[in-house]
Amino acid sequence: AKEQGKNNYQFYSAEMNTRVFERLSLETSLHRAVKNQEFMLHYQPRVDLRSGQICGVEALVRWNHPEMGLVSPAKFIPLAEETGLIVPMGEWVLRTACAQNKAWQDAGLPPLRMAVNLSARQFRQENLIEMVEEILMETGLAPQWLELELTESLVMQEAEKSAAILRDLTDRGIEVAIDDFGTGYSSLSYLKRFPIANLKIDQAFIRDMTRDPDDATLVKTIITMAHGLGMKTIAEGVELAEQIDFLCRHQCEEMQGYYFSRPVTAEELGRLLAEGKTL
Ligand code: C2E
Ligand code: CA
Ligand code: CA
Ligand code: CA
Repeated sequence: AKEQGKNNYQFYSAEMNTRVFERLSLETSLHRAVKNQEFMLHYQPRVDLRSGQICGVEALVRWNHPEMGLVSPAKFIPLAEETGLIVPMGEWVLRTACAQNKAWQDAGLPPLRMAVNLSARQFRQENLIEMVEEILMETGLAPQWLELELTESLVMQEAEKSAAILRDLTDRGIEVAIDDFGTGYSSLSYLKRFPIANLKIDQAFIRDMTRDPDDATLVKTIITMAHGLGMKTIAEGVELAEQIDFLCRHQCEEMQGYYFSRPVTAEELGRLLAEGKTL
């Protein structure tokens, strides 16, 4: 038994070493990626459910790793957050997304709202407002065409401070959306205290709402509550026609999901816009 215990120990330790090594090498290459600009953005259209037209896009970061190929954000965002690399990376994302949106407008395409995800570290940066303002100035994008997506747990930490930042952003004409709404445990009372324009209903509820009556109730309740508080709703992860029917029946304003389009390159999005693709 003693022998086996030892083997077990060696087994786990070897496995642990591999994981530590993997993490370390990922961290090293993440540093290099920030320096060498190995990131790129994909854009997923948001569609207005009344008009059926593209009314916005969400910028989603991709890491084009020289050996590993495209690395999913789910893999490197948490590491970037932990190491603080999210700050320079996030600034690059914001600048690139705003510049791209201005370029589409200058090309005469119908104007879109550009949604950008902000991580906790970025939201808590002392100079967040100045950074956003500077990027808008530099790129020439009007603030009404930028929207920032924040998760509810992020906003709930230090609620008073958050409220002040959200008010500042809103006063400058930048809308804020709560991302993955319904997955946090926060008290709902913050919704009426914070200047939040949009709720993005998490894809977990959308996925099952046409089969699971509980999820259907949740989605209907979220939409009704949002409207009562003067907010709009955006459904994420829409993959099926029956989900669109449900959302239209319940007056959800916008949808985003594979049913309409996966996240695509700037070039492909430009094509979708130019051809006037509708639902
Ligand atoms: P998120 O903000 O909730 O973004 C939505 C995710 O759902 C995206 O995954 C998108 O590709 C995926 N998705 C969209 N439509 C569908 C659908 O119909 N079905 C399914 N199954 N999935 C769909 P992605 O691009 O892998 O991004 C994952 C997460 O990484 C994002 O979740 C966001 O939290 C984070 N992320 C991405 N880009 C950035 C960024 O620039 N900054 C920060 N801080 N986080 C980012
Ligand atoms: Ca998002
Ligand atoms: Ca989301
Ligand atoms: Ca998510």
